[in-house]
Amino acid sequence: MADPSALDRLPVRDGLRGLRPYGAPQLDVAVRLNVNENPFAPPADVVESIAAAAARSAATANRYPDREAWDLRVALAEYLGRREGVRFGPERLWAANGSNEVMLHLLQAFGGPGRRALGFSPTYSMYPEYCRDTFTAYETAPREADFTIDHTVALAALGAHQPHIVLVASPNNPTGTALELGIIEALHEASDALIVVDEAYAEFRRPGTPSALSLIDRLPRLVVTRTMSKAFACAGLRVGYCVAAGGVVDAARLVRLPYHLSALTQNAAIAALGHADALLAGVDRLRHERDAMVVALGSRGFQVAESDANFVLFGRFVDRHAVWQGLLDHGVLIRETGPEGWLRVSIGTPDENAAFLAALTDVVPDPSTVAPEAGP
Ligand SMILES: *Cc1c(COP(=O)(O)O)cnc(C)c1O
Repeated sequence: MADPSALDRLPVRDGLRGLRPYGAPQLDVAVRLNVNENPFAPPADVVESIAAAAARSAATANRYPDREAWDLRVALAEYLGRREGVRFGPERLWAANGSNEVMLHLLQAFGGPGRRALGFSPTYSMYPEYCRDTFTAYETAPREADFTIDHTVALAALGAHQPHIVLVASPNNPTGTALELGIIEALHEASDALIVVDEAYAEFRRPGTPSALSLIDRLPRLVVTRTMSKAFACAGLRVGYCVAAGGVVDAARLVRLPYHLSALTQNAAIAALGHADALLAGVDRLRHERDAMVVALGSRGFQVAESDANFVLFGRFVDRHAVWQGLLDHGVLIRETGPEGWLRVSIGTPDENAAFLAALTDVVPDPSTVAPEAGP
């Protein structure tokens, strides 16, 4: 372990002094349900296609990759057309190393010194980091007790903070809450801000839950971000993307580093997209397991948040760290995140989910004895 104070002896900027890098502990335990990965590894024929794509990239490794990642953007636009029934060309789609980098590009282009971003907490813990790294002020408004966003609260926050960019995850991490489209339309209508809807978990949403992609042709400042990291079972490839009006893509192209997406990444992702159905085959099972997990936790006496994602937020605990540690001692790693007193578990294979529930029953036989007195 490096000396943690070594950084502070260097001329590092004030905003970074004393900070620790973001990220859940990457521990080598049997059951890892902590970072919302898809538990189903790619099937053998997909692995073969990706490996062949990597070999082709290696043969031309002396050359820089396509700066525009055009073929990948064509493949992603085709995928969205097939999956979501929305039609638009690759000029309206931008891709980068994970949707995290897509959102960083958006902050670099639309945020900056003297500018403000608005989020609705509790939400994704990376939003304040993009803001810190682009010298953008990060403001928040609270979600309701059920983790939805209230129209009046949202409009008041727009008025109070006058944001240049609004970051809203739907389904939200860590709560699993999907938004109704009315709130997105209202945010767009009542501001001049770029409205970024982070749909990292959209493929897991329950039937009847809409995607903000259906608004993309009507709202010129709407951006919808997606990723291959979660439902698509390709977290290791690092590919995320967004759909927006063409001007948003032009802005991202100004701030991206040259050749930001390696040839390996582009070609591997195109190969994976050729097997979209196989890679997404686990999604229906995971949604089914997710719904069963909500019921199982509720019937054991835990408080559970409704979820449209591949994870479930549950609680509440006076000492959530003790519960997290107790599960880890049973070989089950979940995530200590979200509002005070709650924990988040990713949906794994049926065996992993069963192992988690067995361990939890052992660690917390009676939730009422470890719950806070009262509260929301
Ligand atoms: C996991 C996640 C992402 C996706 O990150 P990638 O960089 O695409 O791997 C984006 N937003 C939220 C809220 C997430 O939880």
